[in-house]
Amino acid sequence: MKINCVSCGHSIFLDDAYDDFEGPVKCYVCGGLLQIKTEEGKLKSIRLPSMGMPHQQAPQHNVAKAPKEKQA
Ligand SMILES: [Zn+2]
Repeated sequence: MKINCVSCGHSIFLDDAYDDFEGPVKCYVCGGLLQIKTEEGKLKSIRLPSMGMPHQQAPQHNVAKAPKEKQA
């Protein structure tokens, strides 16, 4: 099956394992991540999961940084 990368427009060939598939596929041309859904070898939906929603969250409050206990 062939899909078109929505990021770079290149054709990406997917093997039979993707005939019924829902999940991320990485474009080997531009390295973009595509969220695809296929059914019976047909592409149902394709989108860029990194677009439209904030994927990278800026490190704000680092809660994991626990203060060290003083050993008296
Ligand atoms: Zn691409």
